[in-house]
Amino acid sequence: MSLLPDLPPPALRCVAGGPTAARLAALDALCLVVPPDADAASLRGLPFASEVGTLLAREKPKPGRCVSMTLPTSRQTLLVAGALREGAEAFERLSLAGEALRAVLARDPARIALATTPTRRDGDAVVEALAAAALAQGFPLPSFVQPPQPRPALAEIDLHAGDGLDLRRLQAGAAASNLARWLTALPPNVLDAAGYRRALGAIARDTGLALQWLGEPALRRLGAGAFLAVAAGNARRDAAGIARLTYRPRGRQGRGVPRIALVGKGILFDTGGTNLKPHRSMLEMHTDMAGSALALGVLLALAQLGAPFEVDCWLAITENCIGPTAYRPQDVVRACNGTTIQVIHTDAEGRMALADTLALAARRAPRFILDFATLTGACVNALTERKSGVFTNHPALGPLLEDAGRRSGERVVCFPMDADYDADLQSKVADVLQCAVEGKGDHILAARFLSRFVPPGVAWAHVDLSAATRSGGLAHVATDITGFGARFALDLLLDQPLLARLEPR
Ligand SMILES: [Zn+2]
Repeated sequence: MSLLPDLPPPALRCVAGGPTAARLAALDALCLVVPPDADAASLRGLPFASEVGTLLAREKPKPGRCVSMTLPTSRQTLLVAGALREGAEAFERLSLAGEALRAVLARDPARIALATTPTRRDGDAVVEALAAAALAQGFPLPSFVQPPQPRPALAEIDLHAGDGLDLRRLQAGAAASNLARWLTALPPNVLDAAGYRRALGAIARDTGLALQWLGEPALRRLGAGAFLAVAAGNARRDAAGIARLTYRPRGRQGRGVPRIALVGKGILFDTGGTNLKPHRSMLEMHTDMAGSALALGVLLALAQLGAPFEVDCWLAITENCIGPTAYRPQDVVRACNGTTIQVIHTDAEGRMALADTLALAARRAPRFILDFATLTGACVNALTERKSGVFTNHPALGPLLEDAGRRSGERVVCFPMDADYDADLQSKVADVLQCAVEGKGDHILAARFLSRFVPPGVAWAHVDLSAATRSGGLAHVATDITGFGARFALDLLLDQPLLARLEPR
């Protein structure tokens, strides 16, 4: 099994105007989005408009639902028609796209077209959502079934859209999300620290990004006692490290080019440690590295798109094991910024690993730090797995974060993190408690804890990835591992006036 995806994505082709009857005869399926009460006028100009009109009149799909039929082409092309109101929010668009592509891809087609009725004003956004669903659902996750399953046939996608569709962006975003899903789905004995490091090495070689690996000896020299406390339970001393990948925009090096940092939690398996998790809570804990995989995916997308700012990507990679050398409640450890931490619960390992990683990232004076972590059950309790939580030390960024969530369809909710919450983390023997003894508001307390490792002058947003996994998938993604966050991050970093807002005065 390859540690990295090796199936080339389907070829995308932008086609002006609607599909023609001649082209349809060469396609296995057409996915068409129509208004909920589509009439003959809205279908005008489409091939087989009267057949499609009859189908829609008979079955009247509700908004968000699909109907299907076989078109009378020589190839018996499948038509899946989904109903969506004009001007629907991105999440609604992606959810309808997810439904429609499930029906389309169930037939394992090789060539498909994605289109809307000709008069839609949001046609480009709808076709973008359909394409995102096709690229997500056409991407197979790692499988060890024997004999190997045949790979999806999907090879060509026609996109019937206007100039508003950015194909490179679409592909880079899908690749970021798919890479995050792939790595997150790998079994923990395949994606162990050595495997992860090998995969990062291969990526660095392929992309020309620089890779630095801070193993235990280097982290000891740096005084990263919070990260090393989590790593202490590993059987091998080479099973943990903080990876740093760097992207520098071509031709734009030097002063004045802003730098951002991406940070990801990469707990390869989380047993809970000395405070061992019970069976059901531990079962999916190979996905506790989803934040690191997402940070990596976003970095690669930014590099591929030639983002006009520098990016340092920091991945905190270790397992959280049980064993005689594992850290314990009441241990007191010192992080690399000098803060002493009283350990309360060894299953709150994510914030320990991130503490040193954030402090190291902050030393490079980034204008903005964005971290991703499957950090707390409290965030899932608050939001379910439909949305993720965000926190920021610059309250003015809150609306930008929520906007990026709304526009990308990966919805986030900005939680409070007022300083008075620190009273709940007051320790009698150290500078701070790792977490409170009771779990109340743990997502907020975790953010308050992390804020001690980011100097107040550095703008920072923390994403608690409650939507990283969801039974049955989410929106356009059909697998439990959702890859949530890539669309959100690219919207935030490339489309929102974020860096301009953070311009040094
Ligand atoms: Zn944990």
